[in-house]
Amino acid sequence: MASPSDNHKTESYFPLAGARQDGWSHEDRATATCFCGAVQLSFPTQGPGLVDTFICHCTDCRKITASMFASNFTVDDDYLIHERGRESLSSYSQSKTVGTGNTMTNFFCSTCGTLVYRVSTGFPGMSILRIGTIDDFNLHETKLKPRIEQFVKDRVGWLSAAEGVSQVHGNAYA
Ligand SMILES: [Zn+2]
Ligand SMILES: [Zn+2]
Repeated sequence: MASPSDNHKTESYFPLAGARQDGWSHEDRATATCFCGAVQLSFPTQGPGLVDTFICHCTDCRKITASMFASNFTVDDDYLIHERGRESLSSYSQSKTVGTGNTMTNFFCSTCGTLVYRVSTGFPGMSILRIGTIDDFNLHETKLKPRIEQFVKDRVGWLSAAEGVSQVHGNAYA
C-alpha cells in the first residue's frame, strides 16, 4: 500500500482519509475537506492568496486541536471559496487564552467536529486553515510545508524542531 513516504512528491496523493473522497488539486488551487466531508473549501496553493504556512505550539492550539500543536495556513478571504457546507459550520469565539488579546473565532463542522478554520480580529480579511484538512497529502510536504514554527517555548519536550523550518520563541506575527 502506498504511504506518504514512498510516493513521488511531484504528483497528487489522495489517501483514504475521510468519508468523502472528492477532493482535488490543480496547478494553483486545491481543496480542504472536513473528516465527514460535509464542509469543503478551496484555496490557492501559492501567493498572493496564500499568505503563510506555520506550525503553532501555543497552549491554546494544543488544547483546541486535542493534539500537541497546530499546523496552519493563512489564506486571504478574497481567494477562499466555500465549495459546500458553509451552513454546516458552527462557531465558537473567545479571547481569554489568546496572548494578543484578539478574539479568535473557531469554525467547526457541526457533524464531525473538524476545526476547519479560525478567524482572528487581529488579521481581518484572512482565515487560518488547517494543513491536515488538505485532501492532496503531498501538498502538506511541498507547497504547504510550514515555513515558520512559533511558540516553540511551549513545544512539548519530546518533540524536536521541524527540519528546515524557522524557529520563533513566541508569536511570529506580533
Ligand atoms: Zn464534517
Ligand atoms: Zn497557537
